Amino acid sequence: MKKLFVGTHNPKKLKELTQILGLEYQLISFQDIYIQEIQETELTLEGNAILKAKSYFEQVQMPCIADDTGLEVEILGGEPGVMSARYAGEPPDNSKNIQKLLLKLQEKNALNSDSRKAQFRTVIAFYDGVVLKTFEGIIKGYIAKEPMGNQGFGYDPVFIPDSFLQTFAQMNPEQKNQISHRALALQKLKNYLHLHR
Ligand code: IMP
Repeated sequence: MKKLFVGTHNPKKLKELTQILGLEYQLISFQDIYIQEIQETELTLEGNAILKAKSYFEQVQMPCIADDTGLEVEILGGEPGVMSARYAGEPPDNSKNIQKLLLKLQEKNALNSDSRKAQFRTVIAFYDGVVLKTFEGIIKGYIAKEPMGNQGFGYDPVFIPDSFLQTFAQMNPEQKNQISHRALALQKLKNYLHLHR
């Protein structure tokens, strides 16, 4: 079985990946080998995903994937974007991030769903020492006026995907994982790996 290093500590991401890729790849992560973690210092999601995938490859010498995700709100010019985790400062705090986002939308007088349009965007980078590829997954929706639901993480309580009436945090995790930005990017990665076995 081919090995693939996955640059994540997040057990939920690993589980999702195992469900999607696990049958064909042996997934190796920080839990299995000691390697130095890479800080996300780039100004774009693509930049961070590529930086991490390449740096991990240098250390493990096997095909690597790494991802970066951001919430992009149209009326805020794409904010919080690459700053999503630390929007309200360090250390990362989900509820402070959400409060800051809701306040910014209030300041913009963004009252209807049209002016509160947003998308989650994930970029996964794959690097095997020769080929560098990125895969993008986007889900469009809008920002709710107040947090609702307690599933998921991050901005889930305020993100309502198009064609749904619930926030991500009100959905059961399986439902979210079927339609999410990450699932879409992972599906593209899976198709690529399948074609290039
Ligand atoms: P990461 O690149 O997956 O670590 O995501 C960066 C930040 O984006 C997280 O800290 C969250 O604030 C936010 N984020 C990423 N994915 C999701 C999601 O599926 N739901 C809600 N927020 C997310």
